[in-house]
Amino acid sequence: MMFKDLVKKSILDIHSYEPGRPIDEVRRELRKKYGFLRLIPLMNIVKLVSNENPLGPSKKAIRAMKKAAATANRYPDPFCRDITKALSEELNVLPKNIILGNGSDEIIEFILLAFLNPGDEVVMNHPAFMLYEIATKVMGGEPVIVPLKEFKPDLDAMAAAITPKTKLVFIDNPNNPTGRSVGEMEVEAFLERLPDSVIAVFDEAYYDFVEREDFPDTIRYIGRKNVIVLRTFSKAHGLAGLRIGYGIAGDELIKYMKRTQMPFNVNCIAQAAAIAALKDKGHIEMSRLVIGEGKQYLYKELGAMGLKYVKSDTNFILVDLGRSGKDMFRKLIGHGVIIRDMDYYKLYNFIRVTVGTMPENKKFIKELKKILNGKWSGIEADLF
Ligand code: PMP
Repeated sequence: MMFKDLVKKSILDIHSYEPGRPIDEVRRELRKKYGFLRLIPLMNIVKLVSNENPLGPSKKAIRAMKKAAATANRYPDPFCRDITKALSEELNVLPKNIILGNGSDEIIEFILLAFLNPGDEVVMNHPAFMLYEIATKVMGGEPVIVPLKEFKPDLDAMAAAITPKTKLVFIDNPNNPTGRSVGEMEVEAFLERLPDSVIAVFDEAYYDFVEREDFPDTIRYIGRKNVIVLRTFSKAHGLAGLRIGYGIAGDELIKYMKRTQMPFNVNCIAQAAAIAALKDKGHIEMSRLVIGEGKQYLYKELGAMGLKYVKSDTNFILVDLGRSGKDMFRKLIGHGVIIRDMDYYKLYNFIRVTVGTMPENKKFIKELKKILNGKWSGIEADLF
């Protein structure tokens, strides 16, 4: 029997999630290929690929992690009580409206496990965070893809795409990979049209970077509509490596999602760090400031190079290179800069770059300029 015959039909044609390449892996790969000496100028590899916080975690969070590390012989609190309480106070919702996950990725999985029957339709955008499509297919659901409008979620078209078979609608607001968001009026109109049989998931991973004043306060809908809001500690709070995120929803929805949860899904270090990170407003403010300045710098430099880009409500920028993004990804790696090409999304001429610290942004611009001016070092990594 072929392994192909053993595999669930729903995952046969799935393209796995493509994570951003870690710095160590890129360094190892380049060293293997080109030897140590040629790589000395590249030892300082800059990672601008996974929309992480370039400032690192807050010092208070690091202190909390160290303290929690000493308790790692014990299983963590399976109910995440302290962090749930801290979030409940911060967000002004009841603890029963909150669920913690191993990253907000895991909350997406809980949602699909709890609510999706095989054959159910899940409405999502193209492009959007790629996990919606992958996880929907893994669970035997049918992704229904709605194109973005002006790089933003097209909520009108998403509402129109709902059929009697639709169970869920995923809206990443702001959208990944474009960085653009929809405002309160669009969300309000969409929710008016949302049937009670459908759950709307507002994925707000980049919430802390949004500056527009009319950004929707989606949490206020959780009592009235089938709305789930997703947030994470991976971005502005700088804890991507710990894997902790959360969902906010009506208590019935949360109750069903909790039935799908593995015990002890959030480790003790992540729980402790998240509480400290949540309280360290200074660190979040500083992160916003650095990202805001970095974004302005990148806009200015990209504009001066004649490149088009999408103005972003997040900590990343989608750039139209007018030439192969995959080729630029390979060449930039050879210059010690990791970014993301957009081939997965069939946006072949685009790249997405995370806003880093100012020296990181400057390095990206310097190397991009060199390559666009035909001064490519000739080094590339064979990572795909
Ligand atoms: N949603 C969106 C829109 C994202 O971009 C990401 C991370 N890239 C996530 C969710 C997942 O974040 P995490 O699992 O780290 O909380």
